Order: sequence, then structure tokens, then C-alpha cells
Amino acid sequence: MENERLARVRPFEICSIRPPTENNSLTFRLSRNCYWNKCGFCPIYKTGAKFAKRPVSEVIADIESAGLLNELMVENGIGGSMYSKVIQERALSLVQRIRKAREEAGVTDRHRCLPLENSPDPRMRWFSSWFVEYPDITDCVEHLMSWRIAGGSTCFLGDADSLILKPEFMGLGTSHIRKHFMGIERFTVYGRTRTAARIRSEGELAAFKEAGLDRVHFGIESGSADVLKKIKKGETPEDHVEGSLKTARAGLSCSFYVMPGLGGMELSESHAVQTARVINEAAPDYVRIRTLEIFEGMPLDDMRRKGEFTEADDDTAAREIRKMIEEIRVPVEILSDSATNLLPVFGSLPKDRGKMLATIDEYLAKPPRERLEYSLHARISAFAGQYGALSAEVLNAISPVLRDKRLDFGTASDEEIKNMTAFVKSRLMP
Ligand code: SF4
Repeated sequence: MENERLARVRPFEICSIRPPTENNSLTFRLSRNCYWNKCGFCPIYKTGAKFAKRPVSEVIADIESAGLLNELMVENGIGGSMYSKVIQERALSLVQRIRKAREEAGVTDRHRCLPLENSPDPRMRWFSSWFVEYPDITDCVEHLMSWRIAGGSTCFLGDADSLILKPEFMGLGTSHIRKHFMGIERFTVYGRTRTAARIRSEGELAAFKEAGLDRVHFGIESGSADVLKKIKKGETPEDHVEGSLKTARAGLSCSFYVMPGLGGMELSESHAVQTARVINEAAPDYVRIRTLEIFEGMPLDDMRRKGEFTEADDDTAAREIRKMIEEIRVPVEILSDSATNLLPVFGSLPKDRGKMLATIDEYLAKPPRERLEYSLHARISAFAGQYGALSAEVLNAISPVLRDKRLDFGTASDEEIKNMTAFVKSRLMP
């Protein structure tokens, strides 16, 4: 009987790509990957990952299997509010028993990470180790454990645009999830403003709310029509405004991602001004800053090589953020939760406008050499924060400015510091 129960736990699909605020959320894939997949800066799904809407039976089977695994974890004392060696051992033992039971039942589970080992970009090669297209039981136990340890109240439903799905489909999913995971208090998704503006009616958006959805994360990136066209976003500033206003009228919270640097040096000014304008018209609840990082082999990388796009430097990106903060007139929470951001600019507008502008001005007022040193220092700290320590290759790259484990810029030339900064940035995940 116990073996039969263990054998029924099949690995369920997980959303490897989700907003940072959902890092410890329970996740289910209602669809796979991105049907648009043309944004020039975005490396995520340009790796052979194909878009698919998943059949409802598959999604329900995932939820039921996750529910059963969660039950077994509770019965085995795994993943309360803490993580310890004992819990780790119990989890390992449960994984082994499930594997054995499934083998004895003649079931073979597929396990596959995205095949990116040959990507020209080192970040993508690292990314391949944790972007699990088909997770195994260990991945699923770890996923549930981190969700339980974080409080077990949030759920993210992926992948790239869940508004493309019918509200009834999402409703079936959320009601099943609630049945198996009663502590869930918040459901969130990624969505495209074009879908909200042009495909979904207000009634359908309200039906998402009715189905339990709380928040939509829109990657608007820019409010400039020229920038959106240049990077092939497939959406217009009007979509951004109309889509988010409709979404908010349906009672859903809207969160925007904006991308300083995306206009390059060519469109920097209008990128900042138009993005602030769209934010003023759309009045989202949150604006998250995620500075552009160009990945090798992406369309934007080709444009840069052909001279069609000139990468904005740190100072230009800082001035864009300054312009935006200065021009936003609606109350909104600004967040900086990406390792690509140079400056810690966050707070509530209008209350914290002065503080945010002062952070930027303090940086811009530094002499050029100090700005270069600040930038390298910030990227090294971000790398250590992201990976837990500096890797051998980063230590090697910055060795000319390392003395007794401390940074000493000494006689390093400006060019050398710039190159070191570029190297560390090229290893940071956005
Ligand atoms: S819509 Fe989102 S996931 Fe799809 S290509 Fe654009 S940025 Fe990437």
C-alpha cells in the first residue's frame, strides 16, 4: 500500500523562470516557454525551448502529484519552517524510497535541463544547470521544501504569458491547487500587455481575479515606441497603458519591469521620458528596475556588432533612472531586485523621491575614476551575493587589483578597470 502511494508520486513541472519575489513560491506550469520569443535582449527561451499550452489533464496530474508529495513530506517531518541536516537526510531517504517504488512499478521518469552547455555565453551555460525542463523527484522535493520554509503561502503560475490561457483553465488550476495546498494566499503570473489589451476582454480579466489571481508581472521594458520596435517587443506603449489599466480595473495588482539601457546610447533620452510617461498613464502598483545585460548570441548582440546598437554605459543608465524617478507623478513602489542594477535605487514615490535622486546624484558627482572603481566594486559584491563566493575565474580576472584579499585599485589603468567590470558583469545573472 505504502509502495503503491510512493510510486504514484511523479515529478511535476516547475517554473524555472519566475520573478525574484516568487523565488520561494510553489510553481506550476500551465503553459511551457514563450510563444513570442522575439525580444532582442531576452535569452531565456531562445535555446530550442518550444511554446506549448498544456492539456488540463496534465496540469491537474502535476498538482495532484505535488499534493501527494507534500503529504508524504509532512508525514515524514520534512520542510517545516527550518532546514537542518536531519531534514536533509529525511528528504534524501524519501527521494530514494519514491525512486525505488517507481522503478519497481516499471515507471521511468525523464529528467532534462535545457541543453545549453555549448552556449557562447557563460551565464547561459550555468543557467542550463538549473533550468529544468523536466524535473526529477529531487528537484520537486527541494522546490516544495523551499516553499514550505518560506511560509507556504504563495504560488506562481507560468510560463511567460499566462493571460493567454482561458480564465476557466486557470480557475480549474487554482481550485485544484487550493484543494491540495490550503495555505496559498497569493497567485501571480507573468503576462504580456498586448494580451491584456487586445486579446482578453475586461470580463475575462475579471474572471482571472475570480479564479484567484492576485497580481500580473508585465515586462514592459520601455514606454518608447521606437525602443519597443527596435528590440522587437511586439507590444506598443498603448498596449502597455491599455493592458495594465484594464488589468487594474479587473481588480488585479500590476507590476512593471523596466529596463534602463534598452534604448542604447541612441534612444536613451526618449526611453527614459516615454517610460515615465507610460508609468504615469498606467499607474502600476510596482515598478521593478532591471538594467539591460546583453547576452552573447542574442539578436541585440548581433545589432551591437553591426553598429546598430551602442550599449549605454553605467552613467547613462543612471541618468535614465534619474529622469524616470524625477518624472513619475503617480504613487508607485520602485524596486531594485536585479543583480544588473548598479545603484540601490528603491522606495515609494513620491515619498522617497529625494532619497532616490540623492543616491543617483552622489554616484554621478564622483570623479570619473571613482565611478569606475565604484562600478567594479559593486559588480564584485553582486557576484558574491549571487553565487555565495567569488569563482576562480572572477578571482583571476580581478587579480591585478587584489591585495591580501582586499581591493586595491592602485595603478590599474581606467581601461583595465573597465575590462574587469565587463568581465564580472558578463558572469552575473540578471
Ligand atoms: S515576451 Fe518575455 S519571455 Fe518572451 S521573448 Fe519577450 S521578454 Fe522573453
